[in-house]
Amino acid sequence: MTSQFVFDFQNRGSLGSDILGGKALGLAMMTQLGIPVPPGFVATTEVCGIYYREGRRLPDSFWAEFDVHLVQLVQLEGQSGKRVGGLDDPQLVSVRSGAPISMPGMMDTVLNVGLNDETVEALAVRTGDRRFALDSYRRLLQMYGQVVSGIDKTVFDHELDTVLLNSGVPTPIELSEEALEALITAFKGAFVDVTGEIFVQDPRDQIRNCLIAVFESWNGKRAETYRQMEGISGDLGTAASVVSMVYGNLGENSGTGVCFTRNPSTGEPGLFGEFLQSAQGEDVVSGERTPEPVSAMSDKFPAAYAELIEHAETLERYNRDMQDIEFTIERGKLFILQTRNGKRTAQAAVRVAVDLIEEGLLSKEEALMRVEPSDLSQLLSPQLPEDHGMDVVARGLNASPGAAVGFVVLDADTAESRAAKGEHVILVRPETSPDDIHGFIAAEGILTAKGGLTSHAAVVARGMGKPCITGCQALEVDLEPRVITIAGVQYSEGTLITIDGTSGSVIIGEPELTLVSGSAGAELDRLLEWADSIRRLKVLANADTPIDAENARRLGAEGIGLCRTEHMFFGVDRLPKMQAMILATNLEDREDALAELQPMQSEDFFGIFSEMGQDPVIIRLLDPPLHEFLPDRSEVDSPAVLRRIDELSEVNPMLGMRGCRLGLVYPEIYEMQVKAIADAAIETHASTGLWPKVQIMLPMVAFPSEMESIRANVERVLRDRSVPDVQIGMMIELPRTCVSIGDFAGSSDFFSFGTNDLTQTTLGFSRDDAENMFLGKYLEDGILEENPFETLDVAGVGGLIDFAVNALDYKAPDVSLSACGEHGGDPASIKFFHEVGLSYVSCSPFRIPIARLAAAQAAINSR
Ligand code: ADP
Ligand code: MG
Ligand code: MG
Repeated sequence: MTSQFVFDFQNRGSLGSDILGGKALGLAMMTQLGIPVPPGFVATTEVCGIYYREGRRLPDSFWAEFDVHLVQLVQLEGQSGKRVGGLDDPQLVSVRSGAPISMPGMMDTVLNVGLNDETVEALAVRTGDRRFALDSYRRLLQMYGQVVSGIDKTVFDHELDTVLLNSGVPTPIELSEEALEALITAFKGAFVDVTGEIFVQDPRDQIRNCLIAVFESWNGKRAETYRQMEGISGDLGTAASVVSMVYGNLGENSGTGVCFTRNPSTGEPGLFGEFLQSAQGEDVVSGERTPEPVSAMSDKFPAAYAELIEHAETLERYNRDMQDIEFTIERGKLFILQTRNGKRTAQAAVRVAVDLIEEGLLSKEEALMRVEPSDLSQLLSPQLPEDHGMDVVARGLNASPGAAVGFVVLDADTAESRAAKGEHVILVRPETSPDDIHGFIAAEGILTAKGGLTSHAAVVARGMGKPCITGCQALEVDLEPRVITIAGVQYSEGTLITIDGTSGSVIIGEPELTLVSGSAGAELDRLLEWADSIRRLKVLANADTPIDAENARRLGAEGIGLCRTEHMFFGVDRLPKMQAMILATNLEDREDALAELQPMQSEDFFGIFSEMGQDPVIIRLLDPPLHEFLPDRSEVDSPAVLRRIDELSEVNPMLGMRGCRLGLVYPEIYEMQVKAIADAAIETHASTGLWPKVQIMLPMVAFPSEMESIRANVERVLRDRSVPDVQIGMMIELPRTCVSIGDFAGSSDFFSFGTNDLTQTTLGFSRDDAENMFLGKYLEDGILEENPFETLDVAGVGGLIDFAVNALDYKAPDVSLSACGEHGGDPASIKFFHEVGLSYVSCSPFRIPIARLAAAQAAINSR
């Protein structure tokens, strides 16, 4: 705790934004840089703390200190006649909020404090502009009334509307002196009507009351909501600044504005902003009048404009980041009233970071830390801009980001046939199943009434990088007749709709979407190349098809860390054969069906090997329970199929016959898959002269004997076909495997943590059930901070991983350890994987840029 509670801007010592608040720190810093800032002082965030601790009052010792600075402020202005409440040259101030972390517009500020019935006339004489003095007074009455006296804004709006109507002018700047006098009388009347008291006339009392109101606004509704959203602590408190007024409303030769030193949507260099002549404070942002682009100042205020550009550059260089600047021009003279690091889109963040390196302001490491990895997903798909101006008819879960526009289609076949004609379609279903995969491929986006963030639709759409909304409760899909109903309104199939998977919004019609320009792509590539040169953790992709592999390669994957072979059985031509295999009642029939599938798998593997060249391709043999491939019971007539569905149904499939258990019960399935891999490798070798870097991975291994038994079969097939150098390894998805990992050192060539299943088996949560039934509540009530399926549970699951890594390092130091699954694309989880020393992460293709950047940040952080 400091012993001093009030600091002048030219005398802040070494205090930072935690004590001074960001706004006052910026003002003090600018004062020191010689940038024209009106003089002022700040009561620290500690005073705010004292105010609340002492039961919403401030001690006399504080007020004594405060008064000394107020007197000094007036002397600073260097005009002997100027004083607070003075009748020659009244000193007016603004009383401004300012928290340690920027909370733009969330707290209160009052301007023109110090005006009363007498000083207003003095100001009129002094400036020779009575209209201006009256305008300033009506502004004070309104702001003070709302902020300090708690009078509803509508009361003032109503009085203003009446006066505007009587005067026959559209905006307050056109009001005559007489009209302004009438308005002031009406506003003062409102004080009496609403609060029963007259407007406080003593300027010092006004300032004190405003100061307290600023501290009160820390706990206002807006501020609280914002803090919750941004995760800002309520303990920080706000500082309160008292700043000498400068007047942008002193006629045509004055004005006020806001500008960014670069374009906050694109990052393009150059001042970007707006200004208004003859205006004050928030006039620019309020929308009451339409502001002009800041570039128009070059005509109207050439000197001030040139100066603004110069200060903008100084501030950028000093703060080493894009700035968001508030300024005012008083009779041609420029004043800067605030500077802070500007908020920006992902596209702008990338562009600014890269440009700042080139301008010599940032090192590569610093620039890499400036971009939020998860924001990069914004850059890879079309976006719905915030100001799209259309009605959102329904909201669902934001399952896969980006926006998509297309005609509603109600089934996958229709999606496929209409897309084949070149139409854009959105697949709208109650929910989706593996049978719908061709519809996914054909559609621009997917919208489902049911399902959560990990429903089939959500997982598949994310994997494909397509926008998707699930769990849209206001939506009903009727296949007879073919219509959808959203919030009671019917739309027929073929209606044009837009879905925004980033926000979960559904819109009827086609708003304008923003596309990231090609240039941001180039900047992103640069940034990611730097990330690649810094990170230690390799980034591989989860990719199941040649198309996935191509995407993964384009986005920078260094190989395929997880190829889930079951996805290869879902195509329209394959599923029936897969089903025939499952329905087979004897070995011979099953082998016949498998023989038909084998060349298809082989063809896919060949495509993937060709795409990946000499980078590793890690193929996981079949994992899911067989019943997942059978149709829904309600869609089946055949008694044989029904019987088989019943036979295969399990009480708990997540812990049932899946993974290597399947491979041990039906060895012919894995045998077929290994043959297909071997054939594809042979074909690749024949066409390129090189053997692909194939690794075969077994899922859900619990016991070394499982591994050994399957391994012997795999090796036999490879030997029969003379395919060399195939590593055989396993996934770690069970706590038992983690704690006994040393026992596998002899039978497994490598290990990859399947963190999704490892989370399920460690926590005893079945993911779908957890997300459908209780995880939402857990997160809402703060029982869990994060969804453990999105961000790794470091203490539990991470503890097991850490144990296994250490145990294995002791037994088999050269073995490769990695993580595959969605956590591999989550920045916080990546940080853990880096620290624990894994060799790579593998994630879905569209998360690869995120993982590359996050891995670089992890490396920088651990230096
Ligand atoms: P916010 O954090 O909501 O932007 P500010 O304290 O920055 O609140 O003030 C609100 C508006 O009033 C801003 O446009 C600011 O530039 C302007 N303003 C604040 N203090 C003064 C002053 N002393 N003279 C002129 N304008 C001011
Ligand atoms: Mg503002
Ligand atoms: Mg401001």
